[in-house]
Amino acid sequence: MPEESLSAGIVGAGIGGLALSILLRKADFDITVFERSKHISEFGAGVQLSPNGIKVIRQLGVEKQITKFASCAERIVIRKAENNKVISKIPLGRVAAKRYAADFLQIHRVDLIDVLFNKACELGVNFQFGREAIVKSVNKESSLISCGENKFKFDAVIAADGVHSTTRKTFFQFAKPRFLKQVAYRAMIPLDEVDAFWKKPEVKILVGPGSHIVLYPLISRSLLNIVLCCDEEVWSSDGWSNIAEPVEILHRFKVFKSVKSVLNQITEVHKWGLLEYENKYNWYIQSLALLGDSCHPMLPYLAQGANQALEDAASLAHFLSRRPALGVSESLELYYKNRRDRVLKVQKAARRNASLYHLSNRPGRLLAHTALNLAWQWMPSYLLTQFDWLYNYEAPN
Ligand SMILES: Cc1cc2nc3c(=O)[nH]c(=O)nc-3n(C[C@H](O)[C@H](O)[C@H](O)COP(=O)(O)OP(=O)(O)OC[C@H]3O[C@@H](n4cnc5c(N)ncnc54)[C@H](O)[C@@H]3O)c2cc1C
Repeated sequence: MPEESLSAGIVGAGIGGLALSILLRKADFDITVFERSKHISEFGAGVQLSPNGIKVIRQLGVEKQITKFASCAERIVIRKAENNKVISKIPLGRVAAKRYAADFLQIHRVDLIDVLFNKACELGVNFQFGREAIVKSVNKESSLISCGENKFKFDAVIAADGVHSTTRKTFFQFAKPRFLKQVAYRAMIPLDEVDAFWKKPEVKILVGPGSHIVLYPLISRSLLNIVLCCDEEVWSSDGWSNIAEPVEILHRFKVFKSVKSVLNQITEVHKWGLLEYENKYNWYIQSLALLGDSCHPMLPYLAQGANQALEDAASLAHFLSRRPALGVSESLELYYKNRRDRVLKVQKAARRNASLYHLSNRPGRLLAHTALNLAWQWMPSYLLTQFDWLYNYEAPN
């Protein structure tokens, strides 16, 4: 007798949820994705996809489409906030593509989500838009989701519902997310309103005391993507992201003199409090698992949140597809064991970047900048090779 398809419900049509829906559909699961927004995401900013994430994009079968919308930076250039002086450079482009067998790309989140959504639709994933999905009950055989008037039973349920995951609050005994005393502002301005310097295909990181700014062009959208991060003692807002006043960034980033003309052009800006969960607990209970930011949000200082959600999706789909040898909860356990240490290492590396970028004391800064400068002058690829463990990674297939 042919084996019956398993069913899975996925809460959240973000990057993680959509990627998982495609991979599970390819493995012949019946998939329903629940998204509380009325439409697929129409908002967002730039996202950097590193080779480890691109290798999952390849598994999804959408690398060509993503490349069409994406920019490919040739290098990362780290500069000093006060005078724009180059501290160090890290080669990307062809050097990184050769080293890791995949590109480093920058893309607008809306384009990425659109490509993933279209692929999921093409493969026959079902979508329920416009209502909160609530996981009602979980046992070893199945999990139940209620959405509006309707109830849905699935062999497995995956909560990919972001950092403020309700599923997580209801079923997992985790503490509230911890504010990491860091905030990020995100803004975009038209590329044709800035000098040629800002249009170069590179990721610019300007570092100042207690703060840094990342800028890169999104060529196909003709936009300059700007992320501004700084230390902040208290995050009082309940939400994750708020609209902020452009004048706030002019004030907080006033030492970044060389970017002033760019910052002056910002008319709309959002502000995020950066959060993390303690990750010593399980990521699954019986037939329910967490994925992406609902499980392990991280500082964006290594540009890995979405890339790690993609890796999660590949790992989860790999273990869930190994039936009938494995039951659902055994598959979820293997997923957790496969992912946990890797994610903890990435979170730690992102926190380390926070301390490096935001150094405030003068001797410490001078020392760190000199070391970065010497590394680049003497061994141009040295800094890149320090991240081989991150970018060389191949998620299970
Ligand atoms: C400033 C900043 C810059 C960043 N830059 C990068 C970068 O360059 N590279 C990178 O890899 N990462 C980056 N990240 C991180 C990245 O954006 C996130 O890690 C990633 O988007 C998480 O994806 P996700 O699918 O887990 O969750 P989300 O994208 O948050 O998606 C969750 C989805 O679930 C839906 N949802 C929630 N609750 C329910 C419910 N009850 N019912 C139905 N739907 C629900 C939401 O509407 C949403 O669509 C950055 C983050 C920040 C803050």
